[in-house]
Amino acid sequence: MSSATVRAPAKVNLCLGVGPVRADGYHPLATVYQAVDLHDELRAVARDDDLITVTMHSDIDLHAEAAAVPEDDDNLAVRAAKMLREATGVGGGVDLSIRKVIPVAGGMAGGSADAAAALVACNDVWGAGLSRAELESLAGRLGSDVPFLLHGGNAIGGGRGETISPVLARGSYHWVFAMAHEGLSTAAVYAEFDRLNDGDRIPEPTVPDALLAALRAGDPEALGAALSNDLTEAALSLRPELDDTLSIGIDAGALGAILSGSGPTALFLASDEQHSLDIAFALSSAAGCADVVQSRGPVAGARLS
Ligand code: ATP
Repeated sequence: MSSATVRAPAKVNLCLGVGPVRADGYHPLATVYQAVDLHDELRAVARDDDLITVTMHSDIDLHAEAAAVPEDDDNLAVRAAKMLREATGVGGGVDLSIRKVIPVAGGMAGGSADAAAALVACNDVWGAGLSRAELESLAGRLGSDVPFLLHGGNAIGGGRGETISPVLARGSYHWVFAMAHEGLSTAAVYAEFDRLNDGDRIPEPTVPDALLAALRAGDPEALGAALSNDLTEAALSLRPELDDTLSIGIDAGALGAILSGSGPTALFLASDEQHSLDIAFALSSAAGCADVVQSRGPVAGARLS
């Protein structure tokens, strides 16, 4: 039986500008994504019949109340496989098996990474023959972050995040991630954002010039100073203790410290490998940290391995 293995990265948002909620319920975003060296791995094995199954494997608790990962048709990887089959008319069934490393409901788009991986893997095992560009346009219908996780590297995200455009960038960056004990629902953070901004005139979001200049120059200090996230206030309102985690990293000399996406993962920029080790050490004894991970970015998007 035909099989394929795909690795898909997590993402961070170097900036996350959030605009006023649209009529369709989504918020317009202006973001710069970076794919980072923290990967889920998905293996796809074609089946004779037309069943699509998924099994999850991880050291992470995948059944936590706030962030349970479904092992049925609601799994984003299964939805991706079904969408590819419907769009192309090819294929039969497939068994998907996912080794999950990206934190669940951590603001690092782990579910979207699995969807991107499933698109690449099923395109291969079913011989669907879609181009990268065709996969990216399917990806946008699955979720806001899925096109970027196919693309990888650095990119500007517009619309609700699904419209990807290139950004001039150089350099490789050292990140430290502080994972929280419990995930935070993206929907709950946006609802809190709306509550906190009720009645305010929120401007249309833009990507800060200082951030683009820092990336063009490959300057980690300038990038650290330019990191920003409009969801910070809402996430901290739901999880005030995250402020302590951010302070610990800043006190350890991080060049920049923000929440990743809708949180609760906190991310810290270090100047080099040793600095990243020092920050990781300082965070490792923090009460709010379930785990601390050092990582590099940018890396490629979902790829056959
Ligand atoms: P984002 O940053 O895109 O808002 P996130 O990183 O905060 O997302 P995810 O880990 O992508 O959150 O998952 C959020 C929810 O999606 C999970 O709690 C789970 O209910 C559902 N889900 C469906 N399929 C998957 C999957 N393959 N992996 C993880 N979560 C999944």
